[in-house]
Amino acid sequence: MNNIMKTYSRPQRAQWNQIISRPQTSKEDLEAVVMEVFNAVQQEGDSAVSGYTRRFDAWDSQDIAYSQEAVASQAAKTPESLKQAIDQAYENILRFHQAQQPATVDMETQEGVRCWVEQKPIDKVGIYIPGGTAPLFSTVLMLGVPARVAGCREVVLCSPPNAQGELHSAICYAAIKCGITTVCRVGGIQAIAALTYGTQQVPAVYKIFGPGNQYVTQAKQWASRLGVAIDMPAGPSEVLVVADTTSNPAYVAADLLSQAEHGNDSQVILITDQEEIAEGVQAELAQQLSQLPRKDMATKALENSRFVVMEDREELADFVNAYAPEHLIICHREEAFLLQHLRNAGSVFLGNYSPESAGDYASGTNHTLPTNGFAKQYSGVNLASFTKQITYQRISPTGLATIGPAIVEMAEAEGLSAHGEAVRLRLADIEAKEDNT
Ligand code: NAD
Repeated sequence: MNNIMKTYSRPQRAQWNQIISRPQTSKEDLEAVVMEVFNAVQQEGDSAVSGYTRRFDAWDSQDIAYSQEAVASQAAKTPESLKQAIDQAYENILRFHQAQQPATVDMETQEGVRCWVEQKPIDKVGIYIPGGTAPLFSTVLMLGVPARVAGCREVVLCSPPNAQGELHSAICYAAIKCGITTVCRVGGIQAIAALTYGTQQVPAVYKIFGPGNQYVTQAKQWASRLGVAIDMPAGPSEVLVVADTTSNPAYVAADLLSQAEHGNDSQVILITDQEEIAEGVQAELAQQLSQLPRKDMATKALENSRFVVMEDREELADFVNAYAPEHLIICHREEAFLLQHLRNAGSVFLGNYSPESAGDYASGTNHTLPTNGFAKQYSGVNLASFTKQITYQRISPTGLATIGPAIVEMAEAEGLSAHGEAVRLRLADIEAKEDNT
């Protein structure tokens, strides 16, 4: 395994932090370019957006908005077989996200005190579709479908154009399928800045969704500091595979490579308590890697990869939780134990026949997931990501008579006597009415 993945044999726990560190461009470098682009877009709007598109994406034009006619004509170029595949994935993603409607909460907390919750869509959302090294039209489905199910009124799609200023035909096909009518040819930091401030051609939104490279991820975090909500930091992809001799070495290698090919900064990790799987996986990795069109990128990503041999199932479980992988694949005889102890992961794939690519495209689960350890505190995108909850209450005189004294007591103790007075006034009226009857 040494040739391809860096091997750690039974590392001390004190060493784990170093093993689980992700490859990253220095935060200062990223922040400097993010701030530069945001400032320019805030001051100069579309002309700054076009300038950065020229610089980073080699397309020189002021025409950022993509007309519906252009989107339709581009979509028409999608091969029939690909349209059918997208249609099938769309249906599964739709079904899985429709099923996430939360249960109704409508109850009396005390007699006469009725409280309930309603979900409301976020009116304006921006969805970022990566396109730097691969046109991720699957992301259009992953974000466009839940936005549609939630009932978001305005969905603004941004994706980097190619040097001719076009978006991939399948991005356009998926956008139409999801009912998205505002499509902008802009990517990277400049897209996130435009969605944050709003320009003449790119509408400002309340929440920005979508994965992307480190520039996009850092830009989203900057946007959130400026008050625009974001789904989560969904940066360079990663997978952690927990395998033993019950796994198929060819499948393990293919799953590792399917994340490694995303980009130079992706990371893949294999952990086991049965060292003997190393030889088979190594041979498969070498063989399959040599066949990959994106071999150079995958090879670079594999430089950040680790093969870790652990002592026992407890260590395996603890390591998974410490790493908090975006994608977790478990092909291991102790699956039940590992699941019972699992606390941190974006999305989990179980057994030999659940490749991570199924979740990337078509099984129905969302592929926009927290990376870089953020699965410790964030969920992946889901229906609730596109909604907010509003709480309601209606209190009857009997109800207020029951909880009123507690409210007055607490308000006085906090020194907020107007709060108490709002209740006292009503309690006095309720008592007066009772006296009159
Ligand atoms: P991208 O669209 O995220 O980024 C491309 C943009 O980056 C370009 O448009 C350009 O404007 C900008 N850029 C490139 N170099 C720059 C520089 N030096 N300075 C400033 N801006 C620069 O596309 P990508 O690069 O292909 O990356 C896609 C990423 O999305 C991959 O890292 C992949 O792993 C990740 N991904 C994550 C998830 C998830 O859920 N976490 C899902 C799918 C993909």
